[in-house]
Amino acid sequence: ANEINRAQAGDRPLNKVKHIIAVASCKGGVGKSTVAVNLAFTLTKLGGKVGIMDADIYGPSLPILVQPENKIVQYKDGRIIPLEYENVKLMSFGYINPESAIMRGPMIANMMNQLLTETDWGSLDYLVIDMPPGTGDIQLTICQTVSLDAAVIVTTPQQLSFQDVIKGIQMFGKVSVPCVALVENMAYFEPNDIPDKRYYLFGHGKSQKIANDYGIPFVESFPLDPDLCRWSDNGIPAVLALSESKISQLYQSLASAV
Ligand code: ADP
Repeated sequence: ANEINRAQAGDRPLNKVKHIIAVASCKGGVGKSTVAVNLAFTLTKLGGKVGIMDADIYGPSLPILVQPENKIVQYKDGRIIPLEYENVKLMSFGYINPESAIMRGPMIANMMNQLLTETDWGSLDYLVIDMPPGTGDIQLTICQTVSLDAAVIVTTPQQLSFQDVIKGIQMFGKVSVPCVALVENMAYFEPNDIPDKRYYLFGHGKSQKIANDYGIPFVESFPLDPDLCRWSDNGIPAVLALSESKISQLYQSLASAV
């Protein structure tokens, strides 16, 4: 009775969305939302119609990372109209209720389901879901509500983040969602004034080994990039602001892996 079933393609509430991609991490603060946002905007740059669902109700990041001019959510025919920035559709609990959520798990899962399925996403090539960190009820509810096509796992090199990566990979394995990419974020720093120098500030992670062990086809280290952080803090995705940069190229290779 406890068997976990992946939602079947037939009962997908988001039937005009071609691909649903989860971006997940096991710990908070590793850059999961940053990766979700920049991946989504890269997919748009490559010609896709894209939406981002911020599924982190306790700590929504999308309202800070992407700041459209119109921040007022409207409703039409009982559906929620997503906000929009540079053609990307956006939904977050933080847009609806900027107060912090103090709710128990089952209420959160319900609310998140509603947000996900009652938002009028229209036809999309990709919906990127910024998952809440961890591998608990809420994450499983999402897997059971929508038919995820792929998962991208984000970690930092530190052992504290890495030790749980396998839990995340195994969670997606249980619900038959393939992990297609492993991003080791903030892995190194390249100073502008010393060419070809890389500092691995937190040591080397184990992403390559984990990717080999679990058959994850794309594994990449992303730098700690103060420019990316600055643009993020200003509500503008770095891949739009710094479109010719190295970080944008890394996001393009990630986009081709999903
Ligand atoms: P999470 O979703 O895992 O909690 P966030 O995406 O919110 O993490 O990122 C946490 C903070 O780290 C943010 O301030 C973000 O701008 C910053 N950050 C994320 N990735 C990088 C990076 N590669 N370089 C510099 N800062 C980063």
